[in-house]
Amino acid sequence: MSRNHSNVDGLASSNNMDMIVAFTKDDEDFRKWITAHEISHLLGAPDNRCTPHDECVMRYTTESDDRWCANCINAIRSRR
Ligand SMILES: [Zn+2]
Ligand SMILES: [Zn+2]
Repeated sequence: MSRNHSNVDGLASSNNMDMIVAFTKDDEDFRKWITAHEISHLLGAPDNRCTPHDECVMRYTTESDDRWCANCINAIRSRR
């Protein structure tokens, strides 16, 4: 299953373990966030399944690039 983000600046593909991250914004915080976000997809974290009100890199609106919500942590751990 491949995933893509038609409106986002990064792309992760989990079926063949390749990762492509395109940086279209010259913004250090954005780069850190999208790198963490796309790597998290490779590890099994979904989009749009976040625990309400928790900070999480899987949110498109987050300020955080180093925190994951309970749902995303569980998704990552359940893949191991
Ligand atoms: Zn995503
Ligand atoms: Zn989350």
